[in-house]
This record gives sequence, structure tokens and C-alpha cells, in this order.
Amino acid sequence: MRRVSIFGSTGSIGQNTIDLIKRAPNEYQVVALSGAQNIARLARDAKDLRAEVAITADPTRLGDLRAALAGSGIEACAGAQALDDAASRPTDWVMSAIVGAAGLAPGLKALEQGASLALANKESMVCAGALVKATAQKHSARILPVDSEHSAVFQALIGEDIKAVERIIITASGGAFRDWPMEKLASATPAQAATHPNWDMGQRITIDSASMFNKALEVIETREFFEVDPAIIEVLVHPQSMIHALVGFNDGALMAHVGPPDMRHAIGFALHWPERRKLPVERLDLAALSHLTFRDPDETRWPALRLARAVMAEGGHTGAVFNAAKERALDHFIAGRIGFMQMAEVVEEALTQLSAKSSLTNAEMTLDSVLAIDHLARNTADAIIAKL
Ligand code: NAD
Ligand code: MG
Repeated sequence: MRRVSIFGSTGSIGQNTIDLIKRAPNEYQVVALSGAQNIARLARDAKDLRAEVAITADPTRLGDLRAALAGSGIEACAGAQALDDAASRPTDWVMSAIVGAAGLAPGLKALEQGASLALANKESMVCAGALVKATAQKHSARILPVDSEHSAVFQALIGEDIKAVERIIITASGGAFRDWPMEKLASATPAQAATHPNWDMGQRITIDSASMFNKALEVIETREFFEVDPAIIEVLVHPQSMIHALVGFNDGALMAHVGPPDMRHAIGFALHWPERRKLPVERLDLAALSHLTFRDPDETRWPALRLARAVMAEGGHTGAVFNAAKERALDHFIAGRIGFMQMAEVVEEALTQLSAKSSLTNAEMTLDSVLAIDHLARNTADAIIAKL
């Protein structure tokens, strides 16, 4: 039996992963599941899957988790250290589906014990791509992309030489406001931003889709995963979300990955890699798709895309600053303290203020150096917001 863990099991990616695991219960021994606030769901899944340990990120919820698991024989733990400890248990495959930079440390622990890391947590690659890749290499562990665009590129590259790649195009639905008049965006509310036209995802990534901060993170993630020149990475608005990414080769061929917007494809691909197995996703009837449309993104509407290029040009710890400032700006937007378009202003200002501090090189990158700059960037973003 393969030993598997799911960090962030109570979220959207986590639940889709559990859906796949439950379809073949005899193939998997579930080691750890983790969540934060949704204790009922965490305990239910831990019991259904007979997990060894369940962890809540929130120590104030440990009593509730213990009570919910009483008599089951499943260990209940809480806090960041408990997550790291659980990730250090011998495991073959780990799903990294915590949202935000909090997903970085457990992912590194999983790589250190040699597990294959299915990486939905794009923040790990954005904040610490060099460190994540070096850790995988040192421990002969594999990182498998789960973000749909990156899974699509990964699949289009099977058997190909990366040197023959001329362009990588990742698509974006455009999120909730793609057709809104610009002047309305300043007053857009968190509830309006948290509805997605095509994908059913967690609240934070859904709002990041409306602002294209999600796509900005994914552009940086593409650069880290495939180690290509940032200049060859393009973003294309594709409102139907059927084509997830395209890879263009030097002979003019363009390989597109087409499929329904269902994360179980990318999760299942990472779970079964290098095999392909039957997955419970809709089979597309291309003739029934009346039209697929594409357009270039407008960077006045989505300034995050411009910022992503600046982050890649600077390199080093700039990705960690970008992500942390974005996480705080998003917190403040959700709390109603700043407007939708102010999120990008806050992040840009934080990047400017911390430009010298983020110039540590990739070789100097450690978990501590990343967490230190992440902490500083969060405080910087808070200070910028307090002055707005
Ligand atoms: P979600 O909000 O639905 O779930 C997040 C999970 O992380 C939950 O289990 C939650 O309990 C846990 N969590 C939250 N804060 C935590 C903290 N501080 N410490 C530990 N655990 C914490 O999010 P999601 O949509 O499932 O996304 C998860 C990750 O996958 C994100 O990095 C997102 O960008 C990425 N991703 C998601 C999708 C998608 O379709 N949902 C697609 C591609 C990539
Ligand atoms: Mg994606």
C-alpha cells in the first residue's frame, strides 16, 4: 500500500484528493490529514480514511479535534510544529494543499524524507523555488505540479527537450470581473470577487483569480518549475477555461492541453504519475463546445501581471516579498479595509520598500531566510495599509 498524506485536506484541493483516494481505498494507507477550522470535516475524513494522525493548524481547536476523534485511535495534534512532524513521517506521496506560505515548511519536510510532493501550494515555488528544488534534488524526491496550468505544461513536455520550447502560454479565465467596466473595480466587494465563473475553489485563490494575483503567482511558478526564460512565458485570457496551457516549440508546433475545469484531472495525474489511470472527469465533446475565445490580458485592469515580471527580473527573495505582501493585502481586502485595486498598490509599494532586503541570492536561501523576509514583508504591507 502506498503511504499518502494530504496537507490542507479540508480545502477544495484536499477534498478533491480525498475523492480520488476513496475510490481505491485498498491502495492507500493515509498517514496524515490536516486542516485548520473545519474540525468536523477533518475528523470525519480521518475516520473514513483511517488516518494515523490528524492535525489542525489552529492550537485553540485541539480540544475539539481530540473530542471528535475520541475512541478512534487516531492521533490528534495541533500547530505548525505538529504539521512538520507529521510531514516527516515516512510517506510515499504527499499532497501539499495548504493555502499560502504556511504550506512551505511541511512540503520541505516531506521532500526531506524522500516523498513525491504533489504541489498545489504554488506559494512554495513562488517564495522559495530554489530551496524547494534543491531540497528535492538532495533527497532524490520528486515534485509534481498540481496547478492545472503547470500540470498541462508538464504533460505537454513529456518526451520533449525543454531547449526546443519557444513559448509557454498559460491561460486565465479572467475571474469574476473580466467584463466589468474598469471604473467599477475600485468598489468591488470581497463577496463579488469570491465568485468564479468556471472553477470551484477556495475563497482566497478565487479572489486572486479576479485580481490575477493568482495568474501572477502562476507565471513565477512556471519560471521556477520549468526553469525557462521569463520572456517566453505568456498569459492568455480564455474565458471558457477548457485549454489550460499551451507549449510552443521551435518548429512552430503548439501543444495544447484541453480538458474540463476539474482539478481531479491534475491531482489524479500527479497521484498516478508516471502512469495514466482512468479518472472520473467529464469527457469533452468538442463539437458541443460552441466556441473557445482568447484575448490578451489588459495590464491596467490586472497590474499583478506586470508585478510578476518585475519579481522574476529581481529574483532571489523577491518572490517571498511579493507573496507575503499579497497575502496581507488580501486579508485586508477581505476584512473590508482596502479596495480591490489597492491590493496591487500595496504589493508594489512593499516590493519597492524591500527591494534591497530581497536581494539575497538563491544560494543564500534557507527556510529561515524565507520566513524572515516573509515576516518583514507582512509587517511592511500592514504599515503601508495603515497609512492609506
Ligand atoms: P482552501 O482555502 O479551500 O483550503 C486551504 C486548506 O489549507 C484548508 O485545509 C485549510 O484548513 C488549510 N489552511 C489554511 N490556512 C492554514 C494555515 N495557516 N496553516 C495550515 N493550514 C492552513 O484552498 P484551495 O483552493 O484548496 O487551495 C489550496 C492551495 O492549492 C492554494 O495554494 C491554491 O493556490 C492551490 N490551488 C488550488 C486550486 C483549486 O482549484 N482550488 C487550483 C490550483 C492551485
Ligand atoms: Mg491554476
